[in-house]
Amino acid sequence: MECREAQKLIRDYMYGQLPADKKEDFVSHIRSCRDCYEELDIYYMVEVGLNGLRDDRLNNMDLKNRLEQELEDLETEVQQQRTNTFFRYSLLTLSYLAAGVIFLLQLRIWLLP
Ligand SMILES: [Zn+2]
Repeated sequence: MECREAQKLIRDYMYGQLPADKKEDFVSHIRSCRDCYEELDIYYMVEVGLNGLRDDRLNNMDLKNRLEQELEDLETEVQQQRTNTFFRYSLLTLSYLAAGVIFLLQLRIWLLP
């Protein structure tokens, strides 16, 4: 993901509207790009600190820790999704294999005398 796209997504992220298929790229870009992290940091300070966004969760954690915690939560979510996808594909592959084996066994019954 490029900086321009990541910075466009910051607003979506802040409002919890980050598209599911962008989450992984977004968080890994934010983690690896200092400029975009700072951009997000500033946006976060303004939106959460000044405008009271998310004030349901306003507690004794300072803003930097909260942003850090949110990014970790997002990483965990992305990781879980990746694991789920892996298992889904594994199951799908296994069921195709099973269907193939069954078909071959059936073929043997049909063809052998
Ligand atoms: Zn960047």
